[in-house]
Amino acid sequence: MNFVICHYSEIALKGGNRSFFERKLVENIKKSINSEFVLDIKKISGRILIILNDGVIKSEIEESLKRVFGISNFLFCIKTKSTIEDISRELTLILEKEKFKTFRITAKRSEKNTPNTSQQINEQVGANIFNHFKDISVNLENPDINCFVEIVSGSAYISIKKIQGLNGLPVGTGGKVVLMLSGGIDSPVAGFMAMSRGLNVILVHFHTYPETSQNSIEKVKEISKILSKYQPRTKLYLVPFAKIQKQIFLSINPKLRVIFYRRLMFKIAQEIAKKEKALGIVTGESIGQVASQTLENINATQNGIAMPIIRPLICYHKDDIIEKARQIKTFDISILPHDDCCSRFLPKHPEIRAKIEDVLAEEKKLNIDLMIKEALNEIEKPFSFI
Ligand code: ATP
Ligand code: MG
Repeated sequence: MNFVICHYSEIALKGGNRSFFERKLVENIKKSINSEFVLDIKKISGRILIILNDGVIKSEIEESLKRVFGISNFLFCIKTKSTIEDISRELTLILEKEKFKTFRITAKRSEKNTPNTSQQINEQVGANIFNHFKDISVNLENPDINCFVEIVSGSAYISIKKIQGLNGLPVGTGGKVVLMLSGGIDSPVAGFMAMSRGLNVILVHFHTYPETSQNSIEKVKEISKILSKYQPRTKLYLVPFAKIQKQIFLSINPKLRVIFYRRLMFKIAQEIAKKEKALGIVTGESIGQVASQTLENINATQNGIAMPIIRPLICYHKDDIIEKARQIKTFDISILPHDDCCSRFLPKHPEIRAKIEDVLAEEKKLNIDLMIKEALNEIEKPFSFI
């Protein structure tokens, strides 16, 4: 049998809610890893223990666990009795397969009533390892191999590799939001960050097919597939926007077109959120990134929306957003060319400091409620990514 011990950090701080967060994390881990390898997953003394069968492909499990929000780190372990002799013997067997000059033991106990303290394990197992191998020394600061020994419920779990997790909170613990997903660089990163705070993210993309090619839709599907790896289940709504765009083009002052495209997107996203019982809208907006993203324009765009609008990137620099997009692997898809539905029919000088009074006066030229209703009627069943 193989074992994985998962540690979680922030959840541990959650007082009375702690068991809710832990249950959600166990549930999300179950959904993320290939069940064919798993014998059991359980919460045990402030950790999550995964028991895997012998046929397990560890790299596959590693890739999956690296995408579960809420895990701070995890270790593939072997299990043995918690005596100094047993730990030393098993660790020796592991280390015989490794090349190293320096090492350290890092012992940890989940309960304090064990025969040896962590320090005693460090010292006595360390001495046994030191005596067994030739030409090695202890290096506490920067060892070639750090040997982790965890005493949990009377057993010892041993590992020589700690793998960094994503941290954050388990997806679903914060409720649902809709993400306005454009196919650009920013909005996928915004969605990822919303998930990292425990939010379950439903994706909404506005497209102008058949006025434009299908490539923005294809791109957004690819991006959705990647984002779906970070939460248990992902829905993607594709909203036809060509008709609305045309109505805005025909009636609205050209300077305010982009504001109106965005206003309509927000209003439709809000309706989808209500239908999905989601409590907020996430966007990839960032102050000043493009001329249209001024505080005045952001204000004019969101005016009338009655739910929280979450903008994880609002004060992020573009370089940092790009770096994050590379990490989550959406960047290479986001930079592929596509027809951005809002960059069509743009005037030379769009408004950069829109006034709400002007926008509301202009809006009287449209039958907004009907436009929203028609758009909602045209939405097809959302795509599901598991
Ligand atoms: P992104 O890289 O996410 O496209 P951006 O810097 O290009 O962002 P804008 O094009 O001004 O900024 O869009 C601002 C935000 O509006 C986007 O981050 C996204 O949340 C939303 N948005 C824009 N276009 C669409 C679209 N076609 N469908 C869904 N949401 C959109
Ligand atoms: Mg964009």
